[in-house]
Amino acid sequence: MDEYHSILSRYWGYEQFRPLQREISLSVAAGRDTLGLMPTGGGKSITFQVFSLSRPGLCIVITPLISLMKDQVENLRRRNIKALTIHSGMTQQEVSEAFDNAAWGNYKFLYLSPERIGTEQFKERLQQMSVNLIVVDEAHCISQWGYDFRPSYLRIKDLRPLLPDLPVLALTATATPDVVRDIQRQLNFRKENVLKMSFYRSNLCYMVRHREDKLAYLLTSVQKAHGTGIIYVRSRKNAKDIADYLQKHDISADYYHAGLTSGSRSQKQDNWQNNRTRIIVATNAFGMGIDKPDVRFVIHFGPSNSPEAYFQEAGRAGRDGKKAYAVLIADSSDSLTLQANIKKSFPPPEEIIKVYESLGNYYQIAAGFGRGSIHTFKIGDFAGRYHYPIDLVDNCLKILQREGYIELTDESDHRSRVHFIVNRDELYNFQMSQPEAEEFMRTLLRSGTGFFSGYTEIDENFLAQKTGLSVETIYGYLKHLRTHKIIEYIPRQKFPYLIFTKERIATPRVNISKTNYYDRLQDFTRRIEAMTRYMQDTTKCRSQLLLDYFGETDSQACGQCDVCIAAAAAPVSASAFRSLADRIKAALTAPATPESVLKAVNAPEKDITDTVRQLMDAQIIETLPDGRLKWHEK
Ligand code: ADP
Repeated sequence: MDEYHSILSRYWGYEQFRPLQREISLSVAAGRDTLGLMPTGGGKSITFQVFSLSRPGLCIVITPLISLMKDQVENLRRRNIKALTIHSGMTQQEVSEAFDNAAWGNYKFLYLSPERIGTEQFKERLQQMSVNLIVVDEAHCISQWGYDFRPSYLRIKDLRPLLPDLPVLALTATATPDVVRDIQRQLNFRKENVLKMSFYRSNLCYMVRHREDKLAYLLTSVQKAHGTGIIYVRSRKNAKDIADYLQKHDISADYYHAGLTSGSRSQKQDNWQNNRTRIIVATNAFGMGIDKPDVRFVIHFGPSNSPEAYFQEAGRAGRDGKKAYAVLIADSSDSLTLQANIKKSFPPPEEIIKVYESLGNYYQIAAGFGRGSIHTFKIGDFAGRYHYPIDLVDNCLKILQREGYIELTDESDHRSRVHFIVNRDELYNFQMSQPEAEEFMRTLLRSGTGFFSGYTEIDENFLAQKTGLSVETIYGYLKHLRTHKIIEYIPRQKFPYLIFTKERIATPRVNISKTNYYDRLQDFTRRIEAMTRYMQDTTKCRSQLLLDYFGETDSQACGQCDVCIAAAAAPVSASAFRSLADRIKAALTAPATPESVLKAVNAPEKDITDTVRQLMDAQIIETLPDGRLKWHEK
């Protein structure tokens, strides 16, 4: 057993590496900048985790979502691996403590949100750390052409001169050839180096169904289908309405969208994950961190905005390798809806500037001030105050982010935290007036460790349960302690953060540039067109169409999507026969195996085998004793 293998089995208990995991680890171990392309669920994390555990030092992982970052760190800690995070939801003091730990605490992993990289504090502190690798997760976020660009990712390349001898590992699950090139350029790769797995999913059966009675068709589909599934819809209202409709027809279903409280969302996700709910009807907010292998179908009730999003979402079906369905149900209005989305996603520049101005007023930031300030952001409250539709705010914020004025983090659940700022003796001398408070203090101090050296998470409900006091009383005590400067107390909060990347710019100088607006509008339009093509094409295998989009132009027809099935049912026409015969002939300039003919001739498998059989009957093709096919010129 080599070193990597023994780390894999010691910490994770896995017996084997999955395809490409070891290759990626070896590539960075050889000091090469590496871009690893693996489908979602392929096991990207193991590639750098095993590597970093195999040598001294700290691996810095840059990743955009705070909630996923926390999941990963918890996962590592459960395996007794030292890992920590630094993100915008932390106080200055927490950040400073985390930097100390990263520098001197023998940690193996530091998960960092990209907006932290620009800070001087980070650049200074980086010099104290002994870093063994920089990992850029969700690396497609670095490309302006990608479907999920995040401007703060562009700062990652500023790290390279600070760590000149260190390789970078970029990882992603979706990237078109343009984006693959762009990622390497934006990260200053010393040499191009892409390790890529085929994105072909042999067990996934793609279907597109055009139906004017979409809802009725959906109902019969899920009545006939087996197992658990996801239905993706385009609006929060749709999610609830459709889940209600299915429930009325005795189907176990629930709904999920970003407007629900995080408690309710995790409850719903948990019920579905553990098969207490069979079907989850969701907006595209559902997906992060899902690791359910036995999803038998993903139905899209209307198309996604891009093939990237569609492929990711549909790809959640059949992770266990067993047969699964990815169905898109569309009606005649769906193409128009897609077109309308272009306009909706790019509000007029004046409107974007107005929203920016309102943001400054909302946070009471004067022009010229506010650079680097971090604020909690409640989109509903903001939109309500200035009478904007929420969608409009959402789309304007995306463009303001591209323009580099602001940065928005994902919403994540930050639990309450307490830090004792007096020492134990001082605490002992401090008397709370009520006697039952003593029990509370004892329980609080027992509920965690490290209260005196830094912030420790607490759970007010747990404390209430343990002490028999009401949650309100617990809050009262905590506030009392805070007022008397015994503790610092940060109550739980569940909102995203909005960061002013630059000082507030006076309105006449706010600029929405061509690159960040019109060029992106064009990219967006191209993706909508590609999605429309996927929805409307009836001649090309669905799997091939998707893989082509991601640059895999040599994949074979899947034989199981609606297009392949329709083609198999129809006999090969005379003209198709002639064209196929020509292509088979070209593939047989020298004797070749039937498999290589199938591969070389890009057409449904059944059509090729039918044509080869007819050519054999006509003694134009002969089978050699070793099984290879030979073309006889006539
Ligand atoms: P990705 O980031 O590519 O979507 P993850 O790194 O989250 O995927 O891994 C997906 C799942 O596969 C996780 O549950 C992980 O523990 C598991 N996994 C990864 N590598 C292996 C392996 N070599 N053997 C078994 N399970 C693995």
